[in-house]
Amino acid sequence: MLDKPNKFIKSEPVQIPEPKKWKRSEALKVAQKKYYEKNKKKLVEDQLKYNYDYVRKPHTCECGDTMKYSAKYLHLRSDRHKRRMENIEKGIPAGHQPCNSSYECVCGSKILHKNRTQHFKSAKHQKYLKSIVMPPRDNLCMIIEEPEETTPQIRIV
Ligand SMILES: [Zn+2]
Ligand SMILES: [Zn+2]
Repeated sequence: MLDKPNKFIKSEPVQIPEPKKWKRSEALKVAQKKYYEKNKKKLVEDQLKYNYDYVRKPHTCECGDTMKYSAKYLHLRSDRHKRRMENIEKGIPAGHQPCNSSYECVCGSKILHKNRTQHFKSAKHQKYLKSIVMPPRDNLCMIIEEPEETTPQIRIV
């Protein structure tokens, strides 16, 4: 039966909240509408061009970071911006990070800034680095040679 309704598709309408409207006087509304209708095409084009150019403009934040305008909103709310502003207030270089602050390394470990160099030598980090250079693939045959030297060599055939 083709006409049988599909029970997997729900036909409930999606509720979209109405945007809040500015309160405008009737005369202003009429005037604005008239102006808009008259210049509609140009206004839309101008707005689009303005938006397009604007978000791509480079912006230098007061913390010294450079970004595109489109990234400004998120940057101003970021921890990075807050930290840089605090540093500037203290009179220390904006990029300074306290030794005991932690961050997530590319290998997935949470590490302290002061332990960075030590961490880079760690087994987990080294393993990660090797995994990028040589992704494990089933169709690869690996031969581990035992050469004259003491250091073993790995060759991929
Ligand atoms: Zn900033
Ligand atoms: Zn790491």
